[in-house]
Amino acid sequence: MKERLLGRTGLTVKTLGFGGIPIQRVSEEDAIHVVRRCYELGINYFDTARNYTVSEERIGRALEDVREEVYLTTKSSRRSREGVLEELEVSLTNLRTSWIDVYQLHNVSSREAWEQVKASHGALDALYEARDMGKIRHIGVTSHDPSLLTEIVAEDIFETVMIPFNYLTSLPADELLPVCHEVKVGTVIMKPFGGGALSNATLALKFLLGDEHVDVVIPGMLSVAEVEENIAVASGIYTLTDAELDLIEKNREALGDQFCRACDYCQPCPQEIPISRLLRWETVEKRMGWSPRFETRFREGVAKASTCIDCGECESRCPYHLPIRELLAIKTATLKEQYFR
Ligand code: SF4
Ligand code: SF4
Repeated sequence: MKERLLGRTGLTVKTLGFGGIPIQRVSEEDAIHVVRRCYELGINYFDTARNYTVSEERIGRALEDVREEVYLTTKSSRRSREGVLEELEVSLTNLRTSWIDVYQLHNVSSREAWEQVKASHGALDALYEARDMGKIRHIGVTSHDPSLLTEIVAEDIFETVMIPFNYLTSLPADELLPVCHEVKVGTVIMKPFGGGALSNATLALKFLLGDEHVDVVIPGMLSVAEVEENIAVASGIYTLTDAELDLIEKNREALGDQFCRACDYCQPCPQEIPISRLLRWETVEKRMGWSPRFETRFREGVAKASTCIDCGECESRCPYHLPIRELLAIKTATLKEQYFR
């Protein structure tokens, strides 16, 4: 696999990394097996978060004996100094390590969140302290709002950014990434498969890996077969053929203005309606089946959707011009009809 420098961190990362969300959904044994296979095949960047339930523990167990050979990255959604310091200790214990290579502020996707973390005794203070103590080596930020991230990057605080990016959601991200490259901020790409919408891994990964502004792509991987397929792509030639470019264009056109790309650029919604979750419920159901956990989340989502105040803010932010309010009405009606009658 090819390697790239992760911005100015000095870390040399393989272009394919590991996203730690999906391993929450399989047995501990299977999760450890998948993480270990990633390591054996050369992946050296493993990303997780305090919010991903058992993900940190499983990665920690899988990689404890090879800690020096890999980069472990995690994140906190807490906005206060105390909150982040508390979560950092839990992460260190779960990951069975005395340091985190890149520690990130999770989902700073609104101006309010950004103000909170920058405030006196806010989350940023914790990052500086922990870095001084050697508990974290580099600091990063994750967000679903590339415009806000562009402003954050200009403040020259973070060494990495993580954003959703794939060939369906390329619009705002492709403006942010060259800026990051210019100022040597590492770029970590989540949702390379559009949250499950893109089934052709080769197309989706080659599109991103061939972009010189992308440092590491971190798909979530659930099985050894997925790991091996993705690594085969990351180990090959990244240039898309004319036929592959045509296919990407056809896929984009086919999805049109009715398909939610799960980029979450429409957030924040003042009513906290989980827009992409609701618009994409059929995709998620098809991919993962229906479960009591989904039922609870979707039931909450449907209840929230009924509080929509029709402000239209989401639609003004959606780069794909989706008629979000109309789609929300359709999708929640079919969801109710099928599961919540
Ligand atoms: S509605 Fe638009 S902005 Fe929101 S997640 Fe879907 S595609 Fe992205
Ligand atoms: S129109 Fe409804 S869904 Fe969209 S941002 Fe406003 S409250 Fe949220």
